[in-house]
Amino acid sequence: MAQISTKPADPAARRLAGLLADAGRIVPFTGAGISTESGIPDFRSPGSPWLTNKPIDFALFVASEAARREAWRRKFAIDDLHRGARPGPGHAALARLVHEGRSPGIITQNIDGLHQASGVPEDRLVELHGNGTYAVCLGCGLRHELEAVRADFESSGRAPRCTSCGEPVKSGTISFGQAMPGRAMAQAGEWTRQADLFLAVGSSLQVLPAAGFPRLAKQGGARLVIVNREATALDDIADVVIRGEIGAVLGPLCATH
Ligand code: NAD
Repeated sequence: MAQISTKPADPAARRLAGLLADAGRIVPFTGAGISTESGIPDFRSPGSPWLTNKPIDFALFVASEAARREAWRRKFAIDDLHRGARPGPGHAALARLVHEGRSPGIITQNIDGLHQASGVPEDRLVELHGNGTYAVCLGCGLRHELEAVRADFESSGRAPRCTSCGEPVKSGTISFGQAMPGRAMAQAGEWTRQADLFLAVGSSLQVLPAAGFPRLAKQGGARLVIVNREATALDDIADVVIRGEIGAVLGPLCATH
């Protein structure tokens, strides 16, 4: 079982230590901030590479070969910047909660695959916005590996199509305007309703419907704790808000002896 290994000086961190020690079902909910310690920039902080260009929404991706080409060009350029990113101390801390049976699973808005890389099994992870480490056919749903998609794109100069049905292939992420994944939303709702401690980590909590889960947890009677370096949209309804760096806050609190 996870033990609280320190008596933190900060009153909010002490309060979180107490809540973690008492909680039966802890549900972590993570955003892009947990991966900045792995070298992947978040979405809204200054200098974000994600906001350099206007996002290509789902309708445009489906409608336009030129938009699909541009989406793939951007995707591979960003992948090259973050190649080799490894899980950080925040990922490791949350993985311990899952392994020790203190959490049914982690709900993430992230698309980088770093929770899996930290050892969290697929069935203990919900990816609300999909996963950018593979691609999916929009026609038949077949999974495609990025290496083959990239080789096709770079050799043909055309937006990749499914080798099985010929329809466009898209990164496995959920774009603006694309339907949320039904099973992921249902599983996230179930874990959230069962939580007695809901731990929102590294998210500005502005993106709906994902940011509805912390509210749902509160409505269901869970304690809501927010760990983020700056204010979030839901600080006013949280039981504890910790303004700090994720690894430094969660590392000691989730340590095992
Ligand atoms: P966001 O950028 O809106 O918010 C991230 C928050 O984390 C910010 O408030 C920032 O101050 C905080 N933060 C950053 N590093 C931190 C650290 N080390 N310690 C403490 N706080 C830290 O991100 P969001 O709320 O997750 O929403 C953005 C959307 O963009 C998500 O839906 C996600 O799918 C996508 N996205 C994902 C990734 C990824 O997978 N790594 C990266 C960028 C964007």
